[in-house]
Amino acid sequence: MAATPQNPAASASRRKVSRHRGEGQWAAGHFTPLNGNEQLKKDDDGLNVRTRIETVYSKRGFDSIDPSDLRGRMRWWGLYTQRKPGIDGGKTAILEPEELDDEYFMLRVRIDGGALTTRQLRVIGEISEEFARGTADITDRQNVQYHWIRIEDVPEIWNRLEAVGLSTVTACGDTPRVIIGSPVAGIAEDEIIDGTPALEEIKRRVLNNKAFSNLPRKFKSAISGSPLLDVVHEINDVAFVGVRHPEHGPGFDVWVGGGLSTNPKLGVRLGAWVPSDEVADVYEGVISIFRDHGYRRLRTRARLKFLVADWGAEKFRQVLEDEYLGRRLTDGPAPEQPVQQWRDHVGVHRQKDGRCYVGLAPRVGRVDGATLTKIADLAEAHGSGRIRTTVEQKMIILDVAEDRVDSLVDGLEALDLTARPSSFRRGTLACTGIEFCKLAIVETKQRGSHLIDELERRLPEFDEPITININGCPNACARIQVADIGLKGQLVVDDRGEQVEGFQVHLGGALGLEPGFGRKVRGLKVTADELPDYIERVLKRFQAERTDGERFAA
Ligand code: SF4
Repeated sequence: MAATPQNPAASASRRKVSRHRGEGQWAAGHFTPLNGNEQLKKDDDGLNVRTRIETVYSKRGFDSIDPSDLRGRMRWWGLYTQRKPGIDGGKTAILEPEELDDEYFMLRVRIDGGALTTRQLRVIGEISEEFARGTADITDRQNVQYHWIRIEDVPEIWNRLEAVGLSTVTACGDTPRVIIGSPVAGIAEDEIIDGTPALEEIKRRVLNNKAFSNLPRKFKSAISGSPLLDVVHEINDVAFVGVRHPEHGPGFDVWVGGGLSTNPKLGVRLGAWVPSDEVADVYEGVISIFRDHGYRRLRTRARLKFLVADWGAEKFRQVLEDEYLGRRLTDGPAPEQPVQQWRDHVGVHRQKDGRCYVGLAPRVGRVDGATLTKIADLAEAHGSGRIRTTVEQKMIILDVAEDRVDSLVDGLEALDLTARPSSFRRGTLACTGIEFCKLAIVETKQRGSHLIDELERRLPEFDEPITININGCPNACARIQVADIGLKGQLVVDDRGEQVEGFQVHLGGALGLEPGFGRKVRGLKVTADELPDYIERVLKRFQAERTDGERFAA
């Protein structure tokens, strides 16, 4: 039985009191909320806000929204207020939250595994055009984010999404977020194992389930059977990575406790091999440990990574086995290193059924509703009914006959969605930034797009894999710590002594081949205007000084 505020006696009686009693863990009997967020979740389950949105807020308008729903529970259904236009980054830390709130919302659509049909993509595009002023960004967790959403339109948007099997449930909030999956699951020629059945079973068990709707903080997960390790498994709370066990065959290696933002940590292996049909059990065990033992006193220590760091992999596995699974897990091998640095599936690739998939590169994930509809049209005109999104803010069209590939690639080029991008277009990510994000200090999306243009013009021959990740604030939505060049948005002082938008530079981070966090180059801050010059210099020096085969991150 799980520890919850509803059954404290049952669970507290069979659990030892933790030495981390002061961390607000339910398993240690701490059911009295220790901060405002915990109180808000105890007062009412976040999932319940949907009824109020449908029956009250959407009918009476923005001003009728209870503040604890507005800045709290609405996240359980993928809604955040967006930043009021025109407030500069210098005011972000000074103003009260309500002064930053616009009356419009960001709405996140969860796309588990990045898997869409063309029909679903068309509906996403139509909603964008009709209700979101054309916005529809592809995020680096395979989701789609709308902006400019009015509360009055939310029920109709849900109706349309749900009619085609899409949802915004727990797309944000202290909940099980989207389950990242290999965007080529079930189709790639080189696949070790297809994670789709396990992903679907996890969804069936945890989505819209009040057993998992009050977690200490967000819970991020990923599953991939691709040898390219294409789901950033190292930075998820739990991840399942395809491996071949020497005796038992294909299955998944379990990782826990990864996460960026403050105190970034790479996930650790439990050393356990799990067959496909047991992945959901292990997921449920790990998320239950997080719910019961996760730290709830301080938001800054509430991610699973802090518990894993304190316990270590061995104890974590033991608690998982003894208290949640009731059986031992099988020891298993680590995944092999991927054979290449690009993990985004961009370009034309062979499927296991002989057809092809085509990965295309929008600029920093920025597309619009009309373009999404055109992608759906183009895919269908070339015999495809399936699209995938990737964790690199890219998209993939599946199931294209070989003799239709060239025509599809030409059609994509005409939409500025190239399948043959430069390294810069391919490797640059940008978070939402100051255009819509209330935490932002600087602009990111336009700057990222401009940077791509500049670098393509200045370094036309550069064809190395390179990742340039741009954040609008010290958070880590665009994974700056694990980029070759990570750019953390902040105000900096320019030559004239004035405060302007700029970036703290981190160099040499990576995932995949040799994962590690980039070095924060002490004192190295560039203004936004200097950015193209700075990166051009860094890349030229790398090309001039590197030894044979040396990668940027080395
Ligand atoms: Fe907003 Fe900061 Fe996240 Fe960018 S990194 S989306 S600015 S919170």
